Amino acid sequence: MGFCFWGDFLKERGNKRMSGAQRQSRFERGEEVVVMKFGGTSVEDAAALKRLIGIVESRWGAHPVIVVSALAKVTDQLLEAGKAAATGHLGAALALVRNIYVRHEELADSLLGASAYGSLDRELRNEFQSLESLLLALETSRHFDLKAQDHLLSFGECFSSKLVSWVLSEAGLQAAHVDARQSIVTDARHGQATPVWDVTNQRLRDAVNPLLQSGSIPVMGGFIASSQNGVPTTLGRGGSDFSAAIVGAAIGALRIEIWTDVDGVMTTDPQLCSDARVIRKLSFDEAADMAYFGAKVLHPATVAPAMRENIPVYVLNSRRPEGHGTEITARASTGNRVSAITAKRNVVSVEIQSRNGVDAAFLNTVFGVLEQHTCAVDVMGTSVDRISLLVASSDALPRIVEDLQPLAEVRWENHKALICLVGENIRRQPEVASRVFATVADMDVRVLCQGASERTLSFLVDESKAEESVRRLHSAFFPKVEPALDWGGISSAFCQAG
Ligand code: ADP
Ligand code: ASP
Ligand code: MG
Repeated sequence: MGFCFWGDFLKERGNKRMSGAQRQSRFERGEEVVVMKFGGTSVEDAAALKRLIGIVESRWGAHPVIVVSALAKVTDQLLEAGKAAATGHLGAALALVRNIYVRHEELADSLLGASAYGSLDRELRNEFQSLESLLLALETSRHFDLKAQDHLLSFGECFSSKLVSWVLSEAGLQAAHVDARQSIVTDARHGQATPVWDVTNQRLRDAVNPLLQSGSIPVMGGFIASSQNGVPTTLGRGGSDFSAAIVGAAIGALRIEIWTDVDGVMTTDPQLCSDARVIRKLSFDEAADMAYFGAKVLHPATVAPAMRENIPVYVLNSRRPEGHGTEITARASTGNRVSAITAKRNVVSVEIQSRNGVDAAFLNTVFGVLEQHTCAVDVMGTSVDRISLLVASSDALPRIVEDLQPLAEVRWENHKALICLVGENIRRQPEVASRVFATVADMDVRVLCQGASERTLSFLVDESKAEESVRRLHSAFFPKVEPALDWGGISSAFCQAG
Protein backbone atom coordinates (compact mmCIF):
# COMPACT_ATOMS: atom_id res chain seq x y z
CA MET A 1 0.00 0.00 0.00
CA GLY A 2 1.54 3.37 -0.95
CA PHE A 3 1.34 6.42 1.29
CA CYS A 4 3.10 9.39 -0.23
CA PHE A 5 3.80 11.40 2.93
CA TRP A 6 4.69 8.24 4.81
CA GLY A 7 7.06 7.16 2.04
CA ASP A 8 8.92 10.47 2.31
CA PHE A 9 9.16 10.05 6.03
CA LEU A 10 10.57 6.54 5.72
CA LYS A 11 13.12 7.72 3.15
CA GLU A 12 14.27 10.44 5.55
CA ARG A 13 14.83 8.07 8.40
CA GLY A 14 16.36 5.32 6.27
CA ASN A 15 13.61 2.71 6.84
CA LYS A 16 16.06 0.35 8.52
CA ARG A 17 15.13 -1.97 11.32
CA MET A 18 17.82 -2.13 13.97
CA SER A 19 18.65 -4.67 16.56
CA GLY A 20 20.31 -5.10 19.94
CA ALA A 21 21.50 -2.24 22.09
CA GLN A 22 21.11 0.38 19.35
CA ARG A 23 17.49 -0.57 18.86
CA GLN A 24 16.81 -0.76 22.58
CA SER A 25 18.13 2.75 23.29
CA ARG A 26 16.10 4.18 20.41
CA PHE A 27 12.95 2.51 21.73
CA GLU A 28 13.69 3.92 25.14
CA ARG A 29 13.75 7.37 23.60
CA GLY A 30 10.60 6.47 21.62
CA GLU A 31 12.23 7.69 18.38
CA GLU A 32 11.06 4.71 16.45
CA VAL A 33 7.54 4.35 17.70
CA VAL A 34 4.29 5.34 16.01
CA VAL A 35 1.07 5.20 18.04
CA MET A 36 -1.89 4.40 15.77
CA LYS A 37 -5.42 4.79 17.10
CA PHE A 38 -8.33 3.25 15.19
CA GLY A 39 -11.82 4.56 16.02
CA GLY A 40 -15.04 2.51 16.10
CA THR A 41 -15.81 2.74 12.38
CA SER A 42 -12.21 1.76 11.56
CA VAL A 43 -12.75 -1.62 13.27
CA GLU A 44 -16.49 -2.00 12.66
CA ASP A 45 -16.55 -5.00 10.29
CA ALA A 46 -14.37 -7.45 8.34
CA ALA A 47 -13.66 -4.93 5.56
CA ALA A 48 -12.53 -2.32 8.11
CA LEU A 49 -10.30 -4.86 9.88
CA LYS A 50 -8.70 -5.86 6.58
CA ARG A 51 -7.96 -2.21 5.86
CA LEU A 52 -6.51 -1.89 9.36
CA ILE A 53 -4.14 -4.80 8.67
CA GLY A 54 -2.92 -3.05 5.50
CA ILE A 55 -2.41 0.26 7.30
CA VAL A 56 -0.50 -1.33 10.20
CA GLU A 57 1.59 -3.34 7.72
CA SER A 58 2.55 -0.09 5.99
CA ARG A 59 4.03 1.15 9.33
CA TRP A 60 5.87 -2.05 10.12
CA GLY A 61 9.28 -0.40 9.75
CA ALA A 62 8.38 2.21 12.36
CA HIS A 63 7.25 -0.05 15.21
CA PRO A 64 3.57 0.66 15.67
CA VAL A 65 1.67 0.60 18.94
CA ILE A 66 -2.06 0.14 18.32
CA VAL A 67 -4.90 1.68 20.32
CA VAL A 68 -8.45 0.67 19.37
CA SER A 69 -11.96 1.83 20.21
CA ALA A 70 -14.86 -0.54 20.70
CA LEU A 71 -16.50 -1.64 17.44
CA ALA A 72 -18.85 1.08 16.13
CA LYS A 73 -22.07 1.37 18.21
CA VAL A 74 -20.93 -1.12 20.88
CA THR A 75 -20.44 1.51 23.61
CA ASP A 76 -23.97 2.86 23.04
CA GLN A 77 -25.38 -0.68 23.07
CA LEU A 78 -23.61 -1.51 26.34
CA LEU A 79 -25.01 1.67 27.86
CA GLU A 80 -28.49 0.70 26.71
CA ALA A 81 -28.01 -2.80 28.17
CA GLY A 82 -26.95 -1.33 31.53
CA LYS A 83 -29.99 0.97 31.66
CA ALA A 84 -32.29 -1.92 30.68
CA ALA A 85 -30.86 -4.25 33.37
CA ALA A 86 -31.04 -1.59 36.07
CA THR A 87 -34.70 -0.95 35.26
CA GLY A 88 -35.61 -4.62 35.44
CA HIS A 89 -35.44 -5.52 31.74
CA LEU A 90 -32.76 -8.17 32.05
CA GLY A 91 -33.96 -10.10 28.98
CA ALA A 92 -33.52 -7.06 26.75
CA ALA A 93 -30.10 -6.36 28.29
CA LEU A 94 -28.89 -9.92 27.70
CA ALA A 95 -30.19 -9.89 24.13
CA LEU A 96 -28.15 -6.74 23.45
CA VAL A 97 -24.89 -8.15 24.80
CA ARG A 98 -25.42 -11.50 23.08
CA ASN A 99 -25.69 -9.63 19.78
CA ILE A 100 -22.40 -7.94 20.63
CA TYR A 101 -20.85 -11.34 21.33
CA VAL A 102 -22.15 -12.77 18.04
CA ARG A 103 -20.76 -9.79 16.12
CA HIS A 104 -17.26 -10.32 17.55
CA GLU A 105 -17.47 -14.05 17.16
CA GLU A 106 -18.54 -13.79 13.49
CA LEU A 107 -15.67 -11.42 12.77
CA ALA A 108 -13.24 -13.81 14.45
CA ASP A 109 -14.71 -16.67 12.45
CA SER A 110 -14.28 -14.84 9.14
CA LEU A 111 -10.75 -13.56 9.79
CA LEU A 112 -9.01 -16.23 11.90
CA GLY A 113 -7.94 -19.81 11.38
CA ALA A 114 -9.39 -22.55 13.58
CA SER A 115 -6.73 -22.46 16.29
CA ALA A 116 -6.64 -18.67 16.73
CA TYR A 117 -10.44 -18.57 16.56
CA GLY A 118 -10.65 -21.17 19.36
CA SER A 119 -8.27 -19.23 21.61
CA LEU A 120 -9.98 -15.88 21.08
CA ASP A 121 -13.42 -17.40 21.50
CA ARG A 122 -12.41 -18.84 24.88
CA GLU A 123 -11.17 -15.41 25.98
CA LEU A 124 -14.33 -13.69 24.71
CA ARG A 125 -16.61 -16.22 26.41
CA ASN A 126 -14.92 -15.58 29.76
CA GLU A 127 -15.31 -11.83 29.34
CA PHE A 128 -18.95 -12.17 28.28
CA GLN A 129 -19.66 -14.27 31.36
CA SER A 130 -18.31 -11.46 33.55
CA LEU A 131 -20.38 -8.98 31.54
CA GLU A 132 -23.55 -11.01 32.07
CA SER A 133 -22.83 -11.29 35.80
CA LEU A 134 -22.52 -7.52 35.94
CA LEU A 135 -25.91 -7.12 34.22
CA LEU A 136 -27.46 -9.54 36.72
CA ALA A 137 -26.02 -7.48 39.58
CA LEU A 138 -27.48 -4.31 38.02
CA GLU A 139 -30.87 -5.96 37.77
CA THR A 140 -30.75 -6.95 41.43
CA SER A 141 -29.47 -3.61 42.74
CA ARG A 142 -31.52 -1.43 40.35
CA HIS A 143 -28.66 1.01 40.64
CA PHE A 144 -26.59 2.13 37.65
CA ASP A 145 -24.13 4.80 38.73
CA LEU A 146 -21.05 6.08 36.87
CA LYS A 147 -18.82 3.52 38.57
CA ALA A 148 -20.98 0.62 37.32
CA GLN A 149 -21.22 2.35 33.94
CA ASP A 150 -17.43 2.50 33.59
CA HIS A 151 -17.16 -1.18 34.48
CA LEU A 152 -19.80 -2.06 31.90
CA LEU A 153 -18.41 0.13 29.09
CA SER A 154 -14.86 -1.15 29.61
CA PHE A 155 -15.92 -4.47 28.05
CA GLY A 156 -16.31 -2.86 24.60
CA GLU A 157 -12.64 -1.89 24.24
CA CYS A 158 -11.59 -5.08 25.98
CA PHE A 159 -13.34 -7.19 23.29
CA SER A 160 -12.18 -5.10 20.33
CA SER A 161 -8.53 -4.97 21.42
CA LYS A 162 -8.42 -8.74 21.88
CA LEU A 163 -10.02 -9.24 18.48
CA VAL A 164 -7.63 -6.83 16.73
CA SER A 165 -4.63 -8.38 18.44
CA TRP A 166 -5.54 -11.84 17.15
CA VAL A 167 -6.43 -10.53 13.69
CA LEU A 168 -3.04 -8.82 13.33
CA SER A 169 -1.18 -11.89 14.56
CA GLU A 170 -3.08 -14.08 12.12
CA ALA A 171 -1.95 -11.72 9.34
CA GLY A 172 1.65 -12.42 10.38
CA LEU A 173 2.14 -9.18 12.32
CA GLN A 174 3.03 -10.66 15.72
CA ALA A 175 0.74 -8.62 17.92
CA ALA A 176 0.54 -8.78 21.72
CA HIS A 177 -2.45 -7.66 23.77
CA VAL A 178 -1.81 -5.11 26.53
CA ASP A 179 -4.57 -4.62 29.10
CA ALA A 180 -5.13 -0.86 29.26
CA ARG A 181 -6.85 -1.32 32.63
CA GLN A 182 -3.53 -2.43 34.09
CA SER A 183 -1.48 0.28 32.36
CA ILE A 184 -3.45 3.53 32.49
CA VAL A 185 -4.08 4.58 36.09
CA THR A 186 -6.50 7.42 36.82
CA ASP A 187 -8.26 9.25 39.62
CA ALA A 188 -11.66 7.85 40.64
CA ARG A 189 -13.74 10.42 38.75
CA HIS A 190 -15.91 7.87 37.00
CA GLY A 191 -17.16 8.78 33.55
CA GLN A 192 -14.40 11.31 32.94
CA ALA A 193 -11.27 10.18 34.74
CA THR A 194 -7.87 11.89 34.57
CA PRO A 195 -4.59 9.94 34.45
CA VAL A 196 -2.24 9.83 37.41
CA TRP A 197 0.63 10.70 35.11
CA ASP A 198 3.72 9.34 36.88
CA VAL A 199 2.25 5.92 37.59
CA THR A 200 0.68 5.70 34.13
CA ASN A 201 3.87 6.68 32.30
CA GLN A 202 5.88 4.09 34.18
CA ARG A 203 3.34 1.31 33.75
CA LEU A 204 2.96 2.02 30.04
CA ARG A 205 6.73 1.97 29.50
CA ASP A 206 6.99 -1.28 31.47
CA ALA A 207 4.21 -2.90 29.43
CA VAL A 208 4.99 -1.58 25.96
CA ASN A 209 8.78 -1.26 25.65
CA PRO A 210 9.68 -4.94 26.21
CA LEU A 211 7.11 -5.95 23.58
CA LEU A 212 8.57 -3.50 21.07
CA GLN A 213 12.07 -4.75 21.84
CA SER A 214 10.97 -8.29 21.13
CA GLY A 215 9.55 -7.20 17.76
CA SER A 216 5.86 -7.43 18.76
CA ILE A 217 3.12 -4.93 18.06
CA PRO A 218 1.38 -3.94 21.33
CA VAL A 219 -2.41 -3.64 20.96
CA MET A 220 -4.53 -2.04 23.64
CA GLY A 221 -8.06 -0.77 24.13
CA GLY A 222 -8.51 2.99 24.22
CA PHE A 223 -10.90 4.87 26.55
CA ILE A 224 -10.50 2.43 29.47
CA ALA A 225 -8.29 2.57 32.53
CA SER A 226 -8.43 1.80 36.26
CA SER A 227 -8.32 3.85 39.41
CA GLN A 228 -5.44 3.38 41.84
CA ASN A 229 -7.57 0.76 43.63
CA GLY A 230 -7.92 -1.23 40.40
CA VAL A 231 -11.57 -0.25 39.77
CA PRO A 232 -12.36 0.25 36.03
CA THR A 233 -12.64 3.88 34.92
CA THR A 234 -13.12 5.59 31.54
CA LEU A 235 -11.68 8.77 30.05
CA GLY A 236 -15.00 10.20 28.79
CA ARG A 237 -16.87 9.47 25.57
CA GLY A 238 -14.56 9.46 22.57
CA GLY A 239 -11.65 8.94 24.97
CA SER A 240 -9.62 6.54 22.80
CA ASP A 241 -7.99 9.55 21.10
CA PHE A 242 -6.85 10.67 24.55
CA SER A 243 -5.54 7.15 25.29
CA ALA A 244 -3.42 7.30 22.13
CA ALA A 245 -1.94 10.62 23.24
CA ILE A 246 -1.31 9.27 26.76
CA VAL A 247 0.54 6.27 25.31
CA GLY A 248 2.45 8.41 22.80
CA ALA A 249 3.58 10.84 25.49
CA ALA A 250 4.55 8.05 27.92
CA ILE A 251 6.83 6.34 25.44
CA GLY A 252 7.91 9.54 23.67
CA ALA A 253 6.57 8.37 20.30
CA LEU A 254 7.70 9.88 17.04
CA ARG A 255 4.12 10.54 15.96
CA ILE A 256 0.53 9.82 16.93
CA GLU A 257 -1.93 8.84 14.21
CA ILE A 258 -5.69 9.08 14.71
CA TRP A 259 -7.35 6.87 12.08
CA THR A 260 -11.01 7.74 11.61
CA ASP A 261 -13.83 7.96 9.04
CA VAL A 262 -13.12 11.42 7.57
CA ASP A 263 -10.19 12.78 5.57
CA GLY A 264 -8.77 14.77 8.48
CA VAL A 265 -9.77 17.68 10.67
CA MET A 266 -12.11 19.74 8.49
CA THR A 267 -13.25 23.33 8.32
CA THR A 268 -16.46 22.14 9.97
CA ASP A 269 -18.25 18.87 10.69
CA PRO A 270 -18.87 17.37 7.22
CA GLN A 271 -22.11 15.92 8.57
CA LEU A 272 -23.38 19.47 9.10
CA CYS A 273 -21.98 20.99 5.95
CA SER A 274 -21.09 19.02 2.84
CA ASP A 275 -18.73 21.82 1.69
CA ALA A 276 -16.34 21.20 4.61
CA ARG A 277 -12.69 20.90 3.52
CA VAL A 278 -9.71 19.22 5.02
CA ILE A 279 -7.35 21.49 6.96
CA ARG A 280 -3.86 20.33 6.00
CA LYS A 281 -1.97 21.85 8.94
CA LEU A 282 -3.14 23.01 12.33
CA SER A 283 -1.34 24.21 15.43
CA PHE A 284 -1.75 22.28 18.69
CA ASP A 285 -3.57 25.29 20.12
CA GLU A 286 -6.08 25.54 17.30
CA ALA A 287 -6.74 21.78 17.37
CA ALA A 288 -7.23 21.90 21.15
CA ASP A 289 -9.69 24.79 20.82
CA MET A 290 -11.61 23.00 18.07
CA ALA A 291 -11.87 19.84 20.15
CA TYR A 292 -12.90 21.78 23.26
CA PHE A 293 -15.58 23.64 21.31
CA GLY A 294 -17.19 20.51 19.88
CA ALA A 295 -15.22 19.08 16.91
CA LYS A 296 -15.92 15.43 17.70
CA VAL A 297 -13.05 14.23 15.52
CA LEU A 298 -10.70 14.66 18.52
CA HIS A 299 -11.43 14.11 22.21
CA PRO A 300 -10.79 17.48 23.91
CA ALA A 301 -7.98 16.16 26.14
CA THR A 302 -6.00 14.61 23.25
CA VAL A 303 -3.82 17.52 22.29
CA ALA A 304 -2.33 18.37 25.72
CA PRO A 305 -0.05 15.29 26.18
CA ALA A 306 1.13 15.48 22.56
CA MET A 307 1.83 19.21 22.93
CA ARG A 308 3.68 18.70 26.19
CA GLU A 309 6.04 16.21 24.52
CA ASN A 310 5.95 17.99 21.15
CA ILE A 311 4.74 14.90 19.28
CA PRO A 312 3.00 15.61 15.96
CA VAL A 313 -0.54 14.27 15.66
CA TYR A 314 -1.98 13.17 12.29
CA VAL A 315 -5.69 12.70 11.65
CA LEU A 316 -6.20 10.25 8.78
CA ASN A 317 -9.01 8.42 7.00
CA SER A 318 -8.82 4.64 7.38
CA ARG A 319 -11.11 4.30 4.33
CA ARG A 320 -8.72 6.36 2.19
CA PRO A 321 -5.31 5.78 3.77
CA GLU A 322 -3.46 7.32 0.84
CA GLY A 323 -4.75 10.81 1.77
CA HIS A 324 -2.56 13.42 3.46
CA GLY A 325 -4.90 13.99 6.39
CA THR A 326 -4.25 16.78 8.88
CA GLU A 327 -0.92 17.41 10.55
CA ILE A 328 -1.12 18.99 14.01
CA THR A 329 2.16 20.42 15.31
CA ALA A 330 3.53 23.23 17.44
CA ARG A 331 4.87 25.20 14.54
CA ALA A 332 1.93 25.09 12.15
CA SER A 333 0.52 28.55 11.77
CA THR A 334 -2.49 29.09 9.63
CA GLY A 335 -2.07 32.88 9.73
CA ASN A 336 -4.62 35.46 10.72
CA ARG A 337 -7.78 33.88 9.48
CA VAL A 338 -10.67 31.67 10.50
CA SER A 339 -9.54 28.03 10.39
CA ALA A 340 -12.72 26.25 11.38
CA ILE A 341 -16.26 26.51 12.70
CA THR A 342 -17.49 24.16 15.41
CA ALA A 343 -20.80 23.50 17.11
CA LYS A 344 -21.27 22.12 20.59
CA ARG A 345 -24.82 20.88 21.15
CA ASN A 346 -26.81 20.03 24.28
CA VAL A 347 -25.44 23.06 26.04
CA VAL A 348 -27.31 24.46 29.05
CA SER A 349 -27.12 28.19 29.63
CA VAL A 350 -27.17 29.17 33.34
CA GLU A 351 -27.61 32.63 34.88
CA ILE A 352 -26.73 33.11 38.55
CA GLN A 353 -28.07 36.41 39.85
CA SER A 354 -26.34 37.35 43.10
CA ARG A 355 -28.46 38.96 45.83
CA ASN A 356 -25.47 41.04 47.05
CA GLY A 357 -23.23 41.56 44.02
CA VAL A 358 -20.45 39.43 42.57
CA ASP A 359 -17.18 39.41 44.48
CA ALA A 360 -14.38 36.92 45.11
CA ALA A 361 -16.18 35.28 48.06
CA PHE A 362 -19.33 34.84 45.96
CA LEU A 363 -17.37 33.28 43.06
CA ASN A 364 -15.65 30.99 45.52
CA THR A 365 -18.94 29.76 46.97
CA VAL A 366 -20.51 29.25 43.54
CA PHE A 367 -17.54 27.22 42.26
CA GLY A 368 -17.43 25.21 45.49
CA VAL A 369 -21.09 24.24 45.01
CA LEU A 370 -20.56 23.40 41.31
CA GLU A 371 -17.56 21.24 42.22
CA GLN A 372 -19.49 19.48 44.97
CA HIS A 373 -22.13 18.45 42.42
CA THR A 374 -19.45 17.56 39.80
CA CYS A 375 -20.97 20.08 37.41
CA ALA A 376 -18.30 20.94 34.82
CA VAL A 377 -18.45 24.53 33.59
CA ASP A 378 -17.64 25.39 30.00
CA VAL A 379 -17.63 29.10 29.40
CA MET A 380 -18.10 31.86 31.88
CA GLY A 381 -18.86 35.56 31.91
CA THR A 382 -19.47 37.87 34.89
CA SER A 383 -21.02 41.27 35.46
CA VAL A 384 -21.50 43.32 38.60
CA ASP A 385 -24.37 41.17 39.91
CA ARG A 386 -24.53 38.14 37.65
CA ILE A 387 -22.55 35.12 36.42
CA SER A 388 -23.32 33.44 33.10
CA LEU A 389 -22.21 29.85 32.71
CA LEU A 390 -22.54 27.10 30.16
CA VAL A 391 -22.77 23.53 31.43
CA ALA A 392 -23.10 20.22 29.64
CA SER A 393 -26.07 18.87 31.60
CA SER A 394 -28.89 20.22 33.76
CA ASP A 395 -29.03 17.06 35.92
CA ALA A 396 -27.35 18.64 38.97
CA LEU A 397 -28.93 22.08 38.61
CA PRO A 398 -31.96 21.59 40.93
CA ARG A 399 -29.59 20.67 43.79
CA ILE A 400 -27.29 23.59 42.93
CA VAL A 401 -30.27 25.99 42.98
CA GLU A 402 -31.15 24.72 46.46
CA ASP A 403 -27.61 25.14 47.78
CA LEU A 404 -27.23 28.65 46.36
CA GLN A 405 -30.75 29.76 47.32
CA PRO A 406 -29.68 32.01 50.25
CA LEU A 407 -27.17 33.86 48.04
CA ALA A 408 -28.52 33.91 44.53
CA GLU A 409 -31.30 33.20 42.12
CA VAL A 410 -30.44 30.62 39.47
CA ARG A 411 -32.19 30.25 36.10
CA TRP A 412 -31.31 28.03 33.20
CA GLU A 413 -32.28 27.18 29.63
CA ASN A 414 -31.73 23.82 27.96
CA HIS A 415 -31.28 22.98 24.27
CA LYS A 416 -28.71 25.56 23.35
CA ALA A 417 -25.76 25.20 20.99
CA LEU A 418 -22.44 26.99 21.21
CA ILE A 419 -21.12 27.96 17.79
CA CYS A 420 -17.43 28.78 17.71
CA LEU A 421 -15.02 30.20 15.14
CA VAL A 422 -11.41 29.11 15.66
CA GLY A 423 -8.31 30.68 14.13
CA GLU A 424 -5.02 32.29 15.10
CA ASN A 425 -5.53 35.85 16.34
CA ILE A 426 -9.15 36.14 15.25
CA ARG A 427 -9.91 38.09 18.40
CA ARG A 428 -7.64 40.84 17.14
CA GLN A 429 -9.61 41.14 13.93
CA PRO A 430 -12.79 43.14 14.58
CA GLU A 431 -13.95 42.48 11.02
CA VAL A 432 -14.43 38.80 11.89
CA ALA A 433 -16.92 39.62 14.67
CA SER A 434 -18.82 42.08 12.49
CA ARG A 435 -19.02 39.54 9.69
CA VAL A 436 -20.32 36.90 12.10
CA PHE A 437 -23.02 39.28 13.33
CA ALA A 438 -24.00 40.21 9.81
CA THR A 439 -24.29 36.53 8.87
CA VAL A 440 -26.52 35.48 11.79
CA ALA A 441 -28.15 38.86 12.56
CA ASP A 442 -31.69 37.45 12.31
CA MET A 443 -31.06 34.43 14.53
CA ASP A 444 -31.45 35.48 18.18
CA VAL A 445 -27.79 35.22 19.09
CA ARG A 446 -27.56 35.26 22.88
CA VAL A 447 -24.02 35.57 24.14
CA LEU A 448 -20.88 36.50 22.36
CA CYS A 449 -17.76 35.25 24.06
CA GLN A 450 -14.37 36.48 23.02
CA GLY A 451 -13.11 34.86 26.18
CA ALA A 452 -9.66 33.95 27.35
CA SER A 453 -8.41 32.60 24.05
CA GLU A 454 -7.05 34.78 21.25
CA ARG A 455 -8.16 32.08 18.87
CA THR A 456 -11.89 31.73 19.48
CA LEU A 457 -15.05 33.70 19.05
CA SER A 458 -18.25 31.97 20.08
CA PHE A 459 -21.94 32.60 20.50
CA LEU A 460 -25.02 30.80 21.69
CA VAL A 461 -28.11 29.94 19.64
CA ASP A 462 -31.09 27.65 20.08
CA GLU A 463 -30.03 24.12 19.24
CA SER A 464 -32.54 24.05 16.37
CA LYS A 465 -30.54 26.84 14.70
CA ALA A 466 -27.11 25.22 15.09
CA GLU A 467 -26.94 23.60 11.70
CA GLU A 468 -28.13 26.66 9.82
CA SER A 469 -25.71 28.94 11.71
CA VAL A 470 -22.79 26.68 10.86
CA ARG A 471 -23.79 26.46 7.20
CA ARG A 472 -24.21 30.21 6.83
CA LEU A 473 -20.90 30.95 8.56
CA HIS A 474 -19.12 28.30 6.53
CA SER A 475 -20.36 29.83 3.27
CA ALA A 476 -19.30 33.28 4.50
CA PHE A 477 -15.79 32.30 5.65
CA PHE A 478 -15.05 29.42 3.27
CA PRO A 479 -16.70 30.36 0.00
CA LYS A 480 -16.81 27.64 -2.60
CA VAL A 481 -13.87 27.72 -4.97
CA GLU A 482 -15.36 27.76 -8.44
CA PRO A 483 -13.70 25.33 -10.85
CA ALA A 484 -11.40 27.17 -13.28
CA LEU A 485 -13.15 27.02 -16.66
CA ASP A 486 -10.05 26.39 -18.75
CA TRP A 487 -9.07 23.46 -16.49
CA GLY A 488 -12.14 21.57 -17.57
CA GLY A 489 -13.84 21.76 -14.17
CA ILE A 490 -11.78 20.42 -11.28
CA SER A 491 -14.21 19.62 -8.51
CA SER A 492 -14.15 21.99 -5.56
CA ALA A 493 -14.33 18.87 -3.39
CA PHE A 494 -10.61 18.52 -3.99
CA CYS A 495 -9.77 21.96 -2.65
CA GLN A 496 -8.08 21.72 0.71
CA ALA A 497 -7.84 24.38 3.34
CA GLY A 498 -4.62 25.16 5.17
P1 ADP B 1 -13.93 7.71 15.63
O1 ADP B 1 -14.96 6.66 15.88
O2 ADP B 1 -12.97 7.35 14.55
O3 ADP B 1 -13.26 8.18 16.89
P2 ADP B 1 -15.66 10.02 15.69
O4 ADP B 1 -17.07 9.76 15.26
O5 ADP B 1 -15.40 10.14 17.14
O6 ADP B 1 -14.72 8.93 15.01
O7 ADP B 1 -15.09 11.35 14.99
C1 ADP B 1 -15.20 11.48 13.59
C2 ADP B 1 -16.42 12.32 13.26
O8 ADP B 1 -16.22 13.64 13.79
C3 ADP B 1 -16.64 12.55 11.79
O9 ADP B 1 -17.39 11.51 11.21
C4 ADP B 1 -17.34 13.90 11.74
O10 ADP B 1 -18.72 13.78 11.52
C5 ADP B 1 -17.14 14.48 13.13
N1 ADP B 1 -16.58 15.85 13.10
C6 ADP B 1 -17.04 16.89 13.83
N2 ADP B 1 -16.35 17.99 13.56
C7 ADP B 1 -15.39 17.67 12.67
C8 ADP B 1 -14.36 18.39 12.02
N3 ADP B 1 -14.15 19.70 12.23
N4 ADP B 1 -13.55 17.72 11.17
C9 ADP B 1 -13.74 16.41 10.93
N5 ADP B 1 -14.72 15.67 11.50
C10 ADP B 1 -15.54 16.29 12.37
N1 ASP C 1 -15.87 3.58 22.60
C1 ASP C 1 -15.82 4.85 23.31
C2 ASP C 1 -16.97 5.73 22.86
O1 ASP C 1 -17.75 5.34 22.00
C3 ASP C 1 -14.49 5.53 23.16
C4 ASP C 1 -14.08 5.94 21.76
O2 ASP C 1 -14.71 5.52 20.80
O3 ASP C 1 -13.11 6.69 21.64
O4 ASP C 1 -17.13 6.79 23.40
MG1 MG D 1 -13.82 9.52 18.39
